Formats: sequence, structure tokens, C-alpha cells
Amino acid sequence: MRSKKQAGSSVVNLTWEVHPSGYSWVWAAVRDNPIPVALRDDDAEQQPPKTLRRVLIPNSPANGRPYEPLKEYPGLHRTLSAVKPSEAEIADFAARFGPLTRTHIDTTRFTDLKGLESRPGDSLSEWQVEIENLRNLISLWETHRRKPTREVTEEFRKVLNLRLEDIRLVVGPDLDVELEPRSLRSAIWFQFWREIRGQVDLLRCVECHEWFKYNRQSIKTERRFCSQACRSKAYRRRQEKARSLHRRGVPISQIAKRLRSKLPIVTDWITRGDGSTD
Ligand SMILES: [Zn+2]
Repeated sequence: MRSKKQAGSSVVNLTWEVHPSGYSWVWAAVRDNPIPVALRDDDAEQQPPKTLRRVLIPNSPANGRPYEPLKEYPGLHRTLSAVKPSEAEIADFAARFGPLTRTHIDTTRFTDLKGLESRPGDSLSEWQVEIENLRNLISLWETHRRKPTREVTEEFRKVLNLRLEDIRLVVGPDLDVELEPRSLRSAIWFQFWREIRGQVDLLRCVECHEWFKYNRQSIKTERRFCSQACRSKAYRRRQEKARSLHRRGVPISQIAKRLRSKLPIVTDWITRGDGSTD
């Protein structure tokens, strides 16, 4: 009973949105108004450069597709840390996982629409700072995970306190307390915190390269795939590879060696595949 309650009190949830239309970089002007205004290119040319920044906004004002990053992508901190801090790569990440924060950009001038219209958007420098911070801290963690010094622990404490600032406590329907991140950014840092504290073990799928959760205690052999779908995909690819090597005249024993498979299995793949190839 008690342990069940405790489990209930640690649930962290966040529903985030990804816009299926994708994201684009635009210039936005920041003046006295705390909300940056997205500008068209000719508009942007007339602005003093110091009030301008690049922001990434969704291509459409429609609602995005909701998903639950903490449940679906437990290693998002590692995924984001591996993103090259260029506009193109950041836009690709956003197209899969959405914006970093709930900051809104006034897009009235940008879209020619009348009245108020705003879209979520984060500046290039915010994205780059996040990527760099994650990269540095993950590498610090990799180096010191076995025996963190007091300085390293202190460094983590400082950064995490800042990054987890917008996580709040919410009283749930059973009066359990839930932690609720208010942005993808804090959810991502919370995932990192979980990894540091040993609350999740992460592995990287050899097929889709996404990080997935597994239980080190209950699983004896290390899993290589995040899902059955990825396992099947990799299996089919190995078969394809075997057939193409066979067509190029590589002996079956060599193929088996290269693909680290048993000879009868490779023979089976090749004979079964013969019908479908030329
Ligand atoms: Zn996978």
C-alpha cells in the first residue's frame, strides 16, 4: 500500500505538441515588448541588428500532434545533446519533438493575418545553449559517473536547479502529488537527472538509434532493439544483405561470418530469397 502510494507520488507527466507542418527559422524583433515579433525578410532588413534574433516557429498556426516525451522518449537528453547546433539540424529535432519551451512569438506581421496570432518559438541561441549544456554535462557525467567528486556534484546541482526551475507540483485526482514539467526543456533535464540518479537504464537501439529504457536487474542479456518493429526491420535488412553479398559471388561461409550468423540460417535466407530476385 505504502509503496504503491510512493510510486504514485513520483509520476511525472508532460503532454507536448509537435506540429506536423514542420518548423522554420524566421527573424524576430525584440524591443520593449517582451514578446518577440516575427518579421518578413524585407521587414527584418529595416531593423537594427541588435534587436533581431533567429527564432524557430511552427509553419502553421494549427494545433500540433500531442505526445508524451517522458514516456515515449526516455533518453531525449542524449538525443538533443547529439544534435549539431545548426539551424537545419535543430529544425529536424523540432520536427520530431516540438519546441523547447512555451515561449510565444507574435506572428501578426509575419503572416499578414489580422488580429493576434502567436506561435511557440525559441531562439537559436536558446537552442544552442541547451545543446551545449547537455553535451558538457553528459560528458562530465560519463567521465565521473563511477566516483563523482564534490566539485562535479556541485556543478550538477547548480545546473539542474536552474534547468528544472519550471517543474511544478500538481495535486492529482487521488490527492497524490505529481511533478509536472512546464516545458520540453525541463522534461529533458529531468530525464537526465533520472539517469544520473540511476532511476533509468538507457540503451540505444541499433536500428533506429533512439534511446530506450530497460531494466538492468531483470534482463540478463542486453537488448539491442527498442521494439519488435526495429528488431524485424534489422532482421530483414540482414537477410537482404546476405542475398546481395550472395549475388556478388561472396561464398556463403564468408557471408555467415560477416553477418555473424549461422551457416544454415544464411543458406535458408539465400534460397528463400532467390525467387524474389533476378
Ligand atoms: Zn528502435
